[in-house]
Amino acid sequence: MSNAICSLCGQEADTEEPPLTWVTSLENGRKLLYCDRCARENVRGIEGKLDSLWW
Ligand SMILES: [Zn+2]
Repeated sequence: MSNAICSLCGQEADTEEPPLTWVTSLENGRKLLYCDRCARENVRGIEGKLDSLWW
């Protein structure tokens, strides 16, 4: 069992379940996780530019 880890910056959550402030995104069957900070910085890209998720 491992804690939730941000897909962008690698920040590890305190628990296995991501905090409510984190954002989960399902892309191509892969579950991506963004911490609160990354979610805030990338919310525009996530909602507006799907291409940015395919790095
Ligand atoms: Zn992050």
